[in-house]
Amino acid sequence: MNIIFLGPPGAGKGTQASLLAGLYDIPHISTGDIFRDNIKRGTPIGKEVKLIIDAGALVPDDLTISLVKERLKREDCLKGYLLDGFPRNLYQAESLESVAPPDMAVNVDIDQDILVSRLAGRRACPNCAGTYHVSAVPSELCPVCGVKLTVRPDDVPETIRKRLEVYNSQTAPLIAFYGQLGKLLTIDGNQSIEKVCGDIVEGLRKE
Ligand code: ADP
Ligand code: ADP
Ligand code: ZN
Repeated sequence: MNIIFLGPPGAGKGTQASLLAGLYDIPHISTGDIFRDNIKRGTPIGKEVKLIIDAGALVPDDLTISLVKERLKREDCLKGYLLDGFPRNLYQAESLESVAPPDMAVNVDIDQDILVSRLAGRRACPNCAGTYHVSAVPSELCPVCGVKLTVRPDDVPETIRKRLEVYNSQTAPLIAFYGQLGKLLTIDGNQSIEKVCGDIVEGLRKE
């Protein structure tokens, strides 16, 4: 089963992809995590993308697409993939159609006014890439590995605004793109993490 996630920054795509990866035993592939890992390791790719990501802009398509293509060739993707954060524009979506088309696009629909508090309260583990919210996990330490949680450099007000603009102009049109292909599953993302997950599982079962 090949699944992609649509939805603005903070909608809960990463949270849901990570839960579904455990349920379906298929890999959760987050382009944002791949970039952040490169930044952490100081690779040439990391150096190329750091300023772009910190500014809330999109990394160039050629680089992003080649990283995703390489990742999808790995053996664990034979069973399928859960792509979180890719595609983010029509060009990326068309290129994915030509290599490994998704069976379904899960569109996590959410009220714009919740997003800022979701993103501003997001805490990430630099070790295991786990994602939490201060209201749910008030401790400063990762519940899984005990490492101090951090605020992502792009989860600051000005960059959040910029990322929402980029989403609305470049990524939101993909909702119509997958709708026309008959591959769109829209889920109410304003509910609890567990309820959203249950709705996705039920929606995918019916397809
Ligand atoms: P995205 O990958 O779409 O940017 P995340 O999965 O990282 O979003 O979630 C953003 C923040 O909101 C995180 O702090 C996460 O713990 C929290 N969160 C995710 N889903 C929900 C939900 N259904 N209800 C409340 N908080 C949520
Ligand atoms: P969020 O889940 O909060 O939307 P991500 O972790 O998916 O954020 O992405 C963080 C940043 O990484 C994006 O703002 C963008 O700069 C870059 N990025 C991630 N995926 C892509 C992509 N498919 N194309 C271009 N840039 C990307
Ligand atoms: Zn951790």
